[in-house]
Amino acid sequence: MHAISTRGLTKSYPGPDGGTVHALRGLDLDVGRGETYAFLGPNGAGKSTTIAVLCALARPTSGHASVAGFDVTAHPHDVRRQVGILFQHSALDPDLTAEQNLRVHARLYGLPRREVRGRTAEVLDVAGLADRRRFPVRALSGGMRRRLEIARQMLHSPGVLFLDEPTTGLDPHARAEIWDHLRALRDRHGSTLFVTTHYLEEAENCDRIGIIDRGRLVAQGTPHRLKAEIGDDRVVLRTSDAARARKVVAQAAPPDRTVVSDADGTWLRVPDGSAWIPRLCAALEAHGIAVHAASATPPTLDDVFFHHTGRPLTAPAASGAAR
Ligand code: ADP
Repeated sequence: MHAISTRGLTKSYPGPDGGTVHALRGLDLDVGRGETYAFLGPNGAGKSTTIAVLCALARPTSGHASVAGFDVTAHPHDVRRQVGILFQHSALDPDLTAEQNLRVHARLYGLPRREVRGRTAEVLDVAGLADRRRFPVRALSGGMRRRLEIARQMLHSPGVLFLDEPTTGLDPHARAEIWDHLRALRDRHGSTLFVTTHYLEEAENCDRIGIIDRGRLVAQGTPHRLKAEIGDDRVVLRTSDAARARKVVAQAAPPDRTVVSDADGTWLRVPDGSAWIPRLCAALEAHGIAVHAASATPPTLDDVFFHHTGRPLTAPAASGAAR
């Protein structure tokens, strides 16, 4: 059985001027138990809507979705008990200590009183925050707060944890600690992790990636397979005249190739890119165009994302300090 499964899932909102916004247009998705799944897409693609529907916080317009074996429409309460959800905005009380924040949440979730102390200690320990448990939240760093929020969502032992950009705005060190924490959860509890991120290096370490664009899944697979599907290397040439270089390269390259001149230089995709470099350089120089630099690189996840959505996956700038 899958941890998450959707078929033909749609979600529409009333739009401006009496129109309709089709946020999800028939989403088919399967995520296995214990899987770490990166859900990528441009802004407005439907990621947050998907999470809201899967957590039974929003009703789908049509189609089916089940989480941990429960249908989101027929059994929303069971679904909510089975999921943890980390939003982008903090829901912690800054004046309470780390431990107090957890206890409030445990009571809200109806955890039996005798279990609260033990569960609180356990999740603080996994989050690496045991020695900070008496600190008020306002005294914790941005990364620690985020780990505390994840710990809070683990109190009721959900099988599936949804994380909407859990590392946005954190510095690289804090981001790495969040991922250590998530891996510890996965290893210790077998949790399924459904994560949105704008950092491709984070997606690279997930078991599988799904790419959503305009409310539909446009690609899915392991990072390795998605890159292999793109296949061709990217050859980039920096020349003295990008506009003319594009025409010359297009003539010299295999006939069906698209050649682009942009801020990166003049580039195209070809199999065995390094073998093409001397040929393309010779053609350019024969036309009096100087080549300043040339490179051939195998496909990256950036290329995969661009290939499927026509847009780059831009990471928001890290603030460095606490949020
Ligand atoms: P993402 O999380 O990928 O940025 P969203 O799921 O937030 O995308 O949004 C998908 C589309 O649905 C966007 O066009 C957005 O403007 C629209 N949308 C999201 N929530 C609402 C809402 N509550 N009312 C109207 N439109 C919405």
